[in-house]
This record gives sequence, C-alpha cells and structure tokens, in this order.
Amino acid sequence: MISEKIRSMMDSSSFIRKMFETGAKLKLEYGEDNVFDFSLGNPAMDPPEKFTEILLEKAADLHMHRYMPNAGYFDVRKKVADYISSEQKTKVNENNIVMTSGAGGALNTVLKTLINSGDKIIASIPCFMEYKFYCDNHGGELQLVHGKADFNLDIKTLENAINKETAAVIINSPNNPSGRIYPQETIDSLASMLEKKSSEIGRTIYLISDEPYRKIVYDGVTVPSVMDAYKNTIVCTSYSKDLSIPGERIGWLTVNPEAEDYTNLINGIILCNRILGYVNAPALMQRTIAELQGVSVNIDLYRKKRDYLAQMLAQFGYQFRIPEGTFYLLIEAPGGDDMYVVDLLKDERILVVPGRGFGLPGYFRIAYCVEDSVINGSIAGFKRTAEKLGLKQE
Ligand code: PLP
Repeated sequence: MISEKIRSMMDSSSFIRKMFETGAKLKLEYGEDNVFDFSLGNPAMDPPEKFTEILLEKAADLHMHRYMPNAGYFDVRKKVADYISSEQKTKVNENNIVMTSGAGGALNTVLKTLINSGDKIIASIPCFMEYKFYCDNHGGELQLVHGKADFNLDIKTLENAINKETAAVIINSPNNPSGRIYPQETIDSLASMLEKKSSEIGRTIYLISDEPYRKIVYDGVTVPSVMDAYKNTIVCTSYSKDLSIPGERIGWLTVNPEAEDYTNLINGIILCNRILGYVNAPALMQRTIAELQGVSVNIDLYRKKRDYLAQMLAQFGYQFRIPEGTFYLLIEAPGGDDMYVVDLLKDERILVVPGRGFGLPGYFRIAYCVEDSVINGSIAGFKRTAEKLGLKQE
C-alpha cells in the first residue's frame, strides 16, 4: 500500500496534469491534428540552433562524466554569475550560485534548507500550485493569500498573513498563470514590508523569487530585480522555458551574498541539492548553457501568438488582461464557473486549465506555447463556445 498522504495528493493532484492526460486520450480517439491542447506549459518551439551546436560540441568531450562539486562546475557558475550580476543588478560570484535540476529542483533545495516542521510559506493567488507539494515535501505548509484584481501582489494582505511561523514568501514574476510582471513599486513595497515584519517577529523572512519566465516578456517591459530590492532574496530559475529545454532539467539558484546567515544558507542549500538525490545538475547541460548566457528562443514568435489569440478571443467577447510576459493567457470564465467553461471547450476538443488549478476559480488558463496550427485550429471552437455562453461578439 502506498502512503495515505500520497494517495490523497494523487486524488487532488494537478489539474494541469489531468488535462494533459485527457488530451492524450482525445488525441488517440480523434487524431493529433483534431485536438487543441493548451493545457501544459510545455514549449513546442525548438531550442535555438546555437544550443544544439554547443550541445554536440560538448558531448564530444570525453572528460566530463564524473561527479563534480555539488554546487556545479566552477567555470559554469562563474559564467552564470557574470551574466546575472547585470541581469539582477546585484554583484554575485560563482560561490553564490548553485546549479540545479531545473527551477523545481532549485525551489525544493531552498525549501528543504529553510523549513522547520510546521513552518508556513506564503504565496499569492494565482500561482503555480506545485508550490504546495514542494512545501509539503519538507514539512512546511503553503499559505495562499489573494492578490489584487489585476493580479498584482496585495502587500497589505501579504503583511497580514505573516507571523512567527513564516519562513519565506514565494513570488513568481512574470507569473504563471496570469503573465503579470510585478512592477518596481510593488517589489519595493514588498521589500520594506518584509524588512519591517522580519524585525517585528524576530525572524528573517526570506523571499524566494521564482523566475523561469524572466526572459519571456513583451513590448519592451523589463522585470525588476528582486535581489536588488531585498537582501534576503534567493532567486530560483531554469532554462526550461526560455531555451525550450524543460526535459533537460537545468537551472540555477543564487543567494544574495548580503543575506542574513548567508554562509549557513548557501552551504545548507548545497548539501540539500545533494541529499535530495539530485547530487548535482546534469553535467552536459551545465557545459552547454554556460555558453548560452543571455540567449533565448525568439520571443517575438510568442508575442505574435499572444497577439493573434488575444485579438480573436476579444472579438468573440472573452474578457481578459493582456499579459506582459510568459506564454499564458488567463481568461475570465463567462458566468464564473470555470469547470463548466472548461468542459464546454473540451467538447470542442480544446484543452485549457481551470483557474481553480491556480487557486483562482472563475478563470481559465491558455498555454499558447504551441504550434500555430493548434491556435488556428482552435479558433472556430472558441467562437462556438462564446456563442453558447451568450457572449457579445465585437
Ligand atoms: N515555477 C513555475 C512558475 C513554473 O511555471 C514551472 C514550470 O512550469 C516551474 C517553476 C518548474 O520549472 P522547471 O521545469 O524548470 O523545473
């Protein structure tokens, strides 16, 4: 018998995965081309050509298959540190970086290091719900608070949720599922609030900034540096989305060298990276991404997909906010029942994820990191669904 806890988690497990599985069944029944699967943030775009070139070159190196320092190769961390010192507007060096098995690996490593049994980790809705499982993995509990109607953080609500049990706050900007980028003023007031609350409760509240979509932004908008605003920040990220290589499991984390209890924190993280079973991030991928700092897929292709879908959906009467980043659109479920709308779309063989999968019923998420043919094929179904729901067409 498996554990009761895991059994109940399996029952309540991610809506995203469930939709993905439904998609696989529908594809068998109706054929790949007749199912329009927007459920998973699994980028269909190929990685940049340079990625494949460097990968092949590095794969020919015969002396790279051994164990290494658990934090990752020194020279790789140095290249990452040089790049992110400018990206994060905070000077970091190779000792402040740990190479990880994707952003998920980075988050688990950090949470294991920080959490005492029963501690709370706060996140703002809507958010990536795997955080709940990640916190539970290490004896902590994810505490969700509401964000604002425009999906920005509500600093007052966050403040009210903090108490002595709070180990950390996780933010994710650009945000999955809303595509929202938290503006500089929000990050600054979050930082002042966390400083104030940390001294009030007599405990350092760490800020975990989950940033796998940092490079997927549009219309010249930039993502403010969280590290620069708040010294007790740990940034977690990966190349999964911006290089289109989620299956390769490569990412990194960095701890602000000015953070409270820095030496214990970074050494604890390096230990946890090992004992969680990752041991170290994949060697070949480390060698490869070292040469690809600042490189990403062609973001303009995502922008075109966003603009086209947004234009069509607005025409059919759907209501939503144009996202500044990521490859997600979060749409209001007309009538407010997200499950009902998701089911209507499923009848059109369009797969989307209900907002309740991100803590926000009443919305549904479209992951448009798909081939243009999927978008084009779905348009008539979105239109028919809008008609069924009685939306006013433009
Ligand atoms: N954080 C967020 C907000 C995500 O959307 C995802 C993946 O979808 C992850 C973390 C995990 O990323 P990775 O595949 O690099 O572990």
